[in-house]
Amino acid sequence: MAWNIWGHSLPEMETWITSHGFPKFRAKQLQDYLYRRYIFSFDDMTQLPGPMREWLKENAVLEKPVIMSHITSNDGDTTKLLVKLSDGSLVETVCMHHVYGNSICVSTQVGCAMGCIFCASTRNGLERNLTAGEILAQVYAFRELFDAPIHSIVLMGAGEPLTNYDEVLRFIRLVSDPGLLNISLRNITLSTCGIVPMIDRLAAEGLPITLAISLHAPNDTIRNRILPSSRHFKIEDVVAAAHRYFKKTGRRVTFEYILIKDVNASRENAEELCRLVGKMNCHFNLIPINGTEHIKLYPPSWKDVKIFQEILEKHGKSTTVRRQMGDEIQAACGQLKRRYLEKK
Ligand code: SF4
Repeated sequence: MAWNIWGHSLPEMETWITSHGFPKFRAKQLQDYLYRRYIFSFDDMTQLPGPMREWLKENAVLEKPVIMSHITSNDGDTTKLLVKLSDGSLVETVCMHHVYGNSICVSTQVGCAMGCIFCASTRNGLERNLTAGEILAQVYAFRELFDAPIHSIVLMGAGEPLTNYDEVLRFIRLVSDPGLLNISLRNITLSTCGIVPMIDRLAAEGLPITLAISLHAPNDTIRNRILPSSRHFKIEDVVAAAHRYFKKTGRRVTFEYILIKDVNASRENAEELCRLVGKMNCHFNLIPINGTEHIKLYPPSWKDVKIFQEILEKHGKSTTVRRQMGDEIQAACGQLKRRYLEKK
């Protein structure tokens, strides 16, 4: 069977190339074509000898997702892509253009099993895991589109990364590989719903990546309503796992907290949240929910957002309120795909 040459490290490419009788340095040339020059036709890889190009055409394939649609917000700050994988599955990926560089938010699964009430990606459940190469290709899709440096990667698109652990770890190693994109591990953020044993496993890897945990509530009752999959782990256990992650890696954990009017955004909720995390060194990213036509959930007023933030800060917590980027391009998870399928 033909080997998919996309999505491998240099040592993996060298092993494959030399096992078929070609000199080791040809692997580096192939990597340069794919990841520096974006040349994807074997015929155009003219530094490779003709017989090798013919052999590649018979024994290798290049299965890379194709961009189906892309849309940029009016302010130019956010671009969203819908890409089609080789089996026809569709995934979304988002690029946020910050002054310090581009930040790419990738999907790690087709669909998602987690069931968050505000998320369109979970409507049809989990379809399948993405391979490391398919996740990597989302980053390269933007690279080809803008030819601009990429500053950071956020694993926060469709899917729960820690339930696709091996391929996600492989992707993190690939994207930080000096021969590929050379993204600093410190500029990679993995977002999880809080799967306790997998957080401990990730901590043991010794990678200085940032962990973001979708907390979204100050207690189990509210959390189970917003994030049904969270019933498997008590909220205190999730916070304890975050604390262990910090102690093991030295990396402060970010708690993501979607603010939803009349659900989790009251003064009492903020006070209870402070009691839950105690003196732990952590950061809160407060995100007023994007109201959309598909869900009947609304953000609190800006005044209530500020009150919530002030209570956390009064208790010594570091906070940010995330800018709502790209509302008009449906930047929230799963919505571009949903629109595209509805049109079809
Ligand atoms: S928000 Fe993330 S974890 Fe939750 S359902 Fe959507 S894709 Fe899954």
